[in-house]
Amino acid sequence: MEIGVKTSLNPFEIAQRQLDEAARILELDPDLHELLRWPMREFHVRIPVRMDDGRVRMFEGFRVQYNNARGPCKGGIRFHPEETFDTVRALAAWMTWKTAVLDLPLGGGKGGVVCNPKEISPWELERLARGYIRALGHYIGPDVDVPAPDVYTNPQVMAWMLDEYETITGHRAPGVITGKPLPLGGSAGRGDATARGGMYCIREAGKALDITLAGATAAIQGYGNAGQYAHSLGQELLGLKVVAVSDSKGGIYNPGGLDARAVLAHKEKTGSVVGFPGAKGITNAEILELPVTVLIPAALENQITAANAPRIKARIVAELANGPTTPEADQILHKNKVYVIPDFLCNAGGVTVSYFEQVQNAYNYYWDEAEVHQRLDQKMTTAFHAVHDTAQGHKVHNRLGAYLVAVSRVAEAVKLRGWA
Ligand code: GLU
Repeated sequence: MEIGVKTSLNPFEIAQRQLDEAARILELDPDLHELLRWPMREFHVRIPVRMDDGRVRMFEGFRVQYNNARGPCKGGIRFHPEETFDTVRALAAWMTWKTAVLDLPLGGGKGGVVCNPKEISPWELERLARGYIRALGHYIGPDVDVPAPDVYTNPQVMAWMLDEYETITGHRAPGVITGKPLPLGGSAGRGDATARGGMYCIREAGKALDITLAGATAAIQGYGNAGQYAHSLGQELLGLKVVAVSDSKGGIYNPGGLDARAVLAHKEKTGSVVGFPGAKGITNAEILELPVTVLIPAALENQITAANAPRIKARIVAELANGPTTPEADQILHKNKVYVIPDFLCNAGGVTVSYFEQVQNAYNYYWDEAEVHQRLDQKMTTAFHAVHDTAQGHKVHNRLGAYLVAVSRVAEAVKLRGWA
């Protein structure tokens, strides 16, 4: 290891270092740079929840409102046993850059609860979701801060949160939260939006790099909402041959290809993709190093690091997860000509359709799925080319290109408001 090379895996330190690099290239005013390095408001709460056995358990919860210069804070809520305040801070920063790179009139925020949803009952989960809103409901709102689903939260959790918020405030306010079920004001096309937006980016990357995607191989790490839909939409929209997928229990590999519907049915029956008939077992580390054209990290942070980046063989890395690649790994991938579609561009389809959901809620008039897809495609394609062209123009990797686009937009709004 070279002396002086920082290798922190603290996601917030990583987010700050990424910003610092962009600020240097943009020659950002030091006061403005300092303002952008920190969340503007953050909450740390304890949520008492009555468990099914009658006892009360305390859960730790967070909400970080990173920056609202361009509009209300926006970002999901994660329920995860390893959640930390700094992870939520990093994710809130990345939401700020994500909404800006898509040019949505929104800021960035994120929430989290330290818990393992796999170990609590559905009734306990409901009480926890409602407890989160009792603790934080006065600090969110359609014009203030708008949560959404993320790791281990889903439309049902959003429905409970919406109901609790409306019970507390005494009026209907569907725009307070997105990713809702359709009957409660959800948007058509929100369910697969994160993966779909990523597929549009991969399509554009294929064109830019002159790579034929039909029949090309792909591997997907993570089989939650983003990973599952990446599998089916990768086949359907791009003709990708998905040869490997994984979830938190492990991975499966079949060079002949894995059928999305069959793998999902297996996971629904057994709780994991592991053991899928006809496929060989592989680890979550091995899946990243397979000789595939497209690698899709769709799980958690810090998966591609200085340690394994030199062994990544994919031509395109499409980051559906938030924060899967460390800054050291970014340098290595760039040097090795691996084309990275950075997280806050690649996975921005979710928040983009969340924004459409809010627009429809405000209008109280709803679009059909085809209209959502067409608008999403337009937004993602525009953002992709803004990032690609900026990165090429500055001769930097795409993440830095994305930062240059996003940070200059947020900086402009901050300046116009006279904050710095
Ligand atoms: N949790 C998703 C993300 O990280 C969606 C956020 C949203 O829809 O507000 O982008």
